[in-house]
Amino acid sequence: MAKVKISVEGFKCERCSHEWVPRNFKEESAVCPKCKSPYWNRPRKKKISKKI
Ligand SMILES: [Zn+2]
Repeated sequence: MAKVKISVEGFKCERCSHEWVPRNFKEESAVCPKCKSPYWNRPRKKKISKKI
């Protein structure tokens, strides 16, 4: 049998770069399974600190 690389779609956490394949694609993971961040699918916004 020849070895082939099978690429599976998955998610990647924007916070800790953890990648995982969800069991159910219909339901996006609420949190990153590694860092438990609920914002794993949102890139970090640049901090705009405006102190007046
Ligand atoms: Zn994470």
